[in-house]
Amino acid sequence: MSLLLKSAALVLTALVIGGFVFTTLNAGAQAPAPPYDLLITNARIVDGGGNPWFRSDVAIKDGRIALIGRLGPETAIRTIDAHGQILAPGFIDVHTHVESIYNQPAAENFVRMGVTTLVTGNCGSSTTEVAEFLGRSKEKPLAVNLATLIAHGSVRRKVMGLGDRAPTPEELKQMESVVEQGMKDGAVGFSTGLIYVPGTYARTDEIVSLARVAGRYGGLYATHMRNEGDKVADAIRESIQIGEQAGLPVEISHFKISNKKLWGQSPMTLGLVREARARGLAVTVDQYAYTASSTSLDSRLPAWLRAGGLDEAKKRLGDKATRERAISETKDALKRSGFKDYSFAVVASYGPDKSFNGKSIAEITKQVKKKSDVTSQIEQMLEMYEAGGAGMIYHGMGEDDVKRIMQEPFTMIASDSGVRQVDESVPHPRGYGNNARVLGRYVRELKLISLEDAIRKMTSLPAQTFGFRDRGLIREGFAADMVIFDENTIIDQATFDKPHQFPLGISYVIVNGTPVLADNQMTEARSGVALRGPGYLPQ
Ligand SMILES: [Zn+2]
Repeated sequence: MSLLLKSAALVLTALVIGGFVFTTLNAGAQAPAPPYDLLITNARIVDGGGNPWFRSDVAIKDGRIALIGRLGPETAIRTIDAHGQILAPGFIDVHTHVESIYNQPAAENFVRMGVTTLVTGNCGSSTTEVAEFLGRSKEKPLAVNLATLIAHGSVRRKVMGLGDRAPTPEELKQMESVVEQGMKDGAVGFSTGLIYVPGTYARTDEIVSLARVAGRYGGLYATHMRNEGDKVADAIRESIQIGEQAGLPVEISHFKISNKKLWGQSPMTLGLVREARARGLAVTVDQYAYTASSTSLDSRLPAWLRAGGLDEAKKRLGDKATRERAISETKDALKRSGFKDYSFAVVASYGPDKSFNGKSIAEITKQVKKKSDVTSQIEQMLEMYEAGGAGMIYHGMGEDDVKRIMQEPFTMIASDSGVRQVDESVPHPRGYGNNARVLGRYVRELKLISLEDAIRKMTSLPAQTFGFRDRGLIREGFAADMVIFDENTIIDQATFDKPHQFPLGISYVIVNGTPVLADNQMTEARSGVALRGPGYLPQ
């Protein structure tokens, strides 16, 4: 109380910018500093735990939430009037690919979705120099907090190249020690990408051995499974088996059913996860709010063809019989997926010919070869692969499954996106719209889940799962990562045709107590920090 009285005596200047009040202090040299750095008033707080919103002010000091309660504007250096909008914990996006974030430290596409923390190193691909990667945030500060997994594919590549074979006992030991070093350097867990080269060549026992190391250091196992289509159930069972044998929690990445014949089977796939949880294994999943996925073109081609990398694949494809075998196996895979041709497969980025971006393989084949049969489409895909490959969008999911997965209590919301360069290529819109789309479309328009539950899936659930123990909730003492948005107007604007569009309705994003988005404008602040896992041993 005495602090309140003292600061009330200070001289104050109020600036009104765009309807928001910033109160700046104009105090004499001997006047005591105001007790708080930032005060947010008139907020409806959704605290991240799933509880109904409540009205309160929030005071921030030294990057942390200092006090939640009724406070006067005279108690802080700066005040933001939320005008009754929602104040929530900053969103934690646990599934990203931002290895290049230091080239775009503002991470604007994430900030404008309300995201304040990123977990990268997913799908088997990460830095193997975790200490250096996280440490760089000191010299080159970021607008968001950053954590990483140590990834199987990158570790395997480093130790044994891109070959289609099992490791020798010596190689397995070496891989274990790279994972161990990654965990000691602050990785939050171990990831796999079992459709990619070289992860796809690993047997279950290899993954169990490496995941066990991550588990010893308190990490989790995050997996892009071996199959999300016709063998998705087997792939879920393998993920669970790895968690049970290696003794660590499992996070199934971008949980989906991307096989048209299996649309509607999400009660079965979610059931497998529920059964594992009932047995005592902590399994969670994440999801983006779209019916299309995005990954490389070559992930549609046979694994044996891709062994050793592109140069070796090109040699193989030079042999006529081998090329025919690749075409026929790819055709079989298409048949199993339930799609009749590749009109569901759209190019996001193709270096040699940018005019392909935004067009489907079926359209491109018609344009280039004047043909519309599946064999010609696969031949077109092989030619694009030989020319360096392409990033793709696959319209392969049913919305009923997307909805059912979203309603599951253990599902969190994550974008699977990288840091976007505005107007570069035609990427998946999830990197611009994911969180806003959940809050606008699935909460407000479709009333599929409540606002409070949606926020929980973006905040406390990811924080709990990935071990960010002082984030993901509006609680005194927690890091002041926050987002202010209007629940009546928030919506994604990015579409598959025009993805480079920021969402509407998010006005403030605060990272460690400092606004990085203020009144809809990016600030110069780079207040993100590196977040390190429980195995971290400072050097
Ligand atoms: Zn993935």
